[in-house]
Amino acid sequence: VPFDQMDGLIWFNGEFVDWKDAKVHVLTHGLHYGSSVFEGERAYGGEIFKMQEHNERLIESGRILGFTIPYSVEELNSACNELLARLGYKDAYVRPIAWRGSESMGIAAQKNKINVAIAIWQWPSYFDPEQRMKGIRLDIAEYCRPDPRTAPSKSKAAGLYMICTISKHAAEAKGYADALMLDWRGQIAEATGANVFFVKDGVIHSPTPDCFLDGITRRTIIELAKRRGYEVQVRAIRPEEMEGFSEAFLCGTAAEVTPIAEVGPYKFTPGEITRQLIDDYSAEVQPKRLAAE
Ligand code: PMP
Repeated sequence: VPFDQMDGLIWFNGEFVDWKDAKVHVLTHGLHYGSSVFEGERAYGGEIFKMQEHNERLIESGRILGFTIPYSVEELNSACNELLARLGYKDAYVRPIAWRGSESMGIAAQKNKINVAIAIWQWPSYFDPEQRMKGIRLDIAEYCRPDPRTAPSKSKAAGLYMICTISKHAAEAKGYADALMLDWRGQIAEATGANVFFVKDGVIHSPTPDCFLDGITRRTIIELAKRRGYEVQVRAIRPEEMEGFSEAFLCGTAAEVTPIAEVGPYKFTPGEITRQLIDDYSAEVQPKRLAAE
């Protein structure tokens, strides 16, 4: 079934509409000029993990693009929760999106309506589960994450995903699961939809998120690693350093914690620290009411 023909409900500008009827006009500003921001959240056991942080980031992403989302974070939280409850899913992926509408055409769109929709669907594993256990293989992307003076890097803006889709398609065409992107300085940045971590001699290393998304999962992983007593170094990482790293993994809302076996010519073996963080992350995302039972 094509994705837009599935059964379900979508929250659309304050109303619940049938999944198949949640449509926009072809002259939508967000489609022509990339004035669109979104979020990716996951529900576990009927509760959305770090929903507040995600919905705050959605509002902030819009602000960076110069628009005000016409709902408060509390209203967005209630909409997400109500939609999840109506759909009756326990474990699901939540996709809020906001975009400039089709009231006028042209680059300037000061008066165009800011639309907001939320879709929720069941999306169990972002990477092929079989590959995922052994560690996935990544290519090194040709496109680089842009200088923050070139693009609004701190925004989870749809337009920034253009280079991610191109890079992921190119990687898949060569048999890789995804691509690792460097930044404009040639330093390691992130994958096309997840942040990256490395391990060397028991120390965890992750690139400074100064020109790419500072993932909510990334921040959670750093907290979990510190709780276990690991040293975490957030710093500039050159691609050649991958030669000396023993473990590597991706993390993100959709990807959760996914071990990496290869990045281009560099090889890694999913090890103790990766496994520990996979376990700690899956415990952390469970609703606290379940943990107490
Ligand atoms: N980087 C990119 C490009 C992403 O799309 C995502 C997924 N939203 C992440 C990093 C991870 O962010 P988070 O942990 O907040 O989902």
